[in-house]
Amino acid sequence: MENMEFTINAIYIACVVLFILGLKLLSHPSTARKGNTLSALGMLIAIVATLLDQNIISYQWIIVSIFLGSVIGAAMAKYVEMTKMPEMVSLLNGVGGLASLLVAFAVVISGEEIDTYILVIVLFAIAIGSITFTGSIIAWAKLSGEIPKLVSSAATVFKGQAIINFLIVVSIGLLGTLFVLSPENIDFIIYFSLLCLVLGVMLVLPIGGADMPVVISLLNSYSGLAACAAGFAINNNLLIVAGALVGASGIILTSVMCKAMNRSLSNVLFSGFKAATSSTIEIEGEMTPMVAEDAFFVLEAAQSVLVIPGYGMAVAQAQHAMKELQVLLEENDAEVVYGIHPVAGRMPGHMNVLLAEADVPYELLLEMDEVNARMEGFDIAIVIGANDVVNPAARDMQGSPIYGMPVINADLAKNVFILKRGMSSGFAGVDNPLFFKSNARMIFGDAKDTINTIIRQFSD
Ligand code: NDP
Repeated sequence: MENMEFTINAIYIACVVLFILGLKLLSHPSTARKGNTLSALGMLIAIVATLLDQNIISYQWIIVSIFLGSVIGAAMAKYVEMTKMPEMVSLLNGVGGLASLLVAFAVVISGEEIDTYILVIVLFAIAIGSITFTGSIIAWAKLSGEIPKLVSSAATVFKGQAIINFLIVVSIGLLGTLFVLSPENIDFIIYFSLLCLVLGVMLVLPIGGADMPVVISLLNSYSGLAACAAGFAINNNLLIVAGALVGASGIILTSVMCKAMNRSLSNVLFSGFKAATSSTIEIEGEMTPMVAEDAFFVLEAAQSVLVIPGYGMAVAQAQHAMKELQVLLEENDAEVVYGIHPVAGRMPGHMNVLLAEADVPYELLLEMDEVNARMEGFDIAIVIGANDVVNPAARDMQGSPIYGMPVINADLAKNVFILKRGMSSGFAGVDNPLFFKSNARMIFGDAKDTINTIIRQFSD
């Protein structure tokens, strides 16, 4: 028996090592696949080791659940569109929170005598699990717009909201205390859980849909914390460590995203009005349109080309066409590199994933600081569906809502081609002076169609 416990814990340590190695490898695109495989292997070993543990009562249910979960997970991963990935991550976070909530609840209703400190941890797991669950569902609804009548994508703010939230938090504290004092009274923990579920909704409602990716990353961190607490509650070392790893990496990602947007976390969580923000700043200069056919002649003569992708490239699914154009330009003796802004698109690494899918070599993907340092040397900067991440107002216009956000200085290249469908603003709802610069040309249309037109010119 003691031997078994030792073996299980030794296997758990091996799994933790695999998780940590996996995380390390995930930090670079060229090793990310390997990192994913290692982490998945760690999880598989962890599941098998747990199943070998003596406490399993019914294998039938577990096997049915593994089968169902695997089928649903594989189908989601295969069929979800790249632009819908944040929504999927949000749903998965929510399910993680729900799992921790149920595990903690199972401890409460097990009928066994529970130490006070475990009771407190159980409360913690239920609270964070509930908030993660309902918060993630609201985040999904806001991002996807699937139930617009019930959950609007805009920040939902109403009179007395702060007071209601305050009352909910006080009631949760009260019910939690009553439960610890008399754990045999299940009613307390049921009402506690219900109020925590309501709190999850209330916390995410006042945040605008556009800020949801940051909220999802934070909820991801919460789901890790909830799992960690559930691990303490059922005395499972692996769950404690794995939960802590998820919690820590989620909070690091949240902070990286906030920094790249030049926003504080409290501003994201409590200002909640950014989605409705729009600005009219005094912009000088004239917008000059150009047709794709003419862009070809300039590109044909270019020696060095910088490609700056943004959310519109994901919408247009223009990455494969861009890779094709890249090869044609290279065959024409031009150097082509990609400038990747840390928050281009709608999720961290969005552009890297799309370009990797199109087999663009990793070494051509340069970070913002790298391309900014040599911007004047580029003959042409091609901006594909990017807007905010190349907005010079962030650098030059004090008072602009995005002032201070680090951007790729595309306007400092010799020529700039901007591929977008019209003049609409990006995620931040801010006008872009780049479109009116004398060295900028607007090439209107779907980015993929535009690039394909240029490609056809090369082959004619
Ligand atoms: P933006 O949202 O600023 O701009 C995208 C542009 O793409 C739009 O102006 C749109 O213009 C254009 N577009 C849309 N569809 C197409 C199409 N089919 N063909 C061509 N163009 C198209 O994107 P950026 O990537 O520049 O910036 C990302 C923004 O998202 C930043 O503000 C960032 O802070 C924010 N954000 C990013 C997160 C992340 O993790 N990456 C997380 C949270 C927020 P038009 O409609 O005229 O075509």
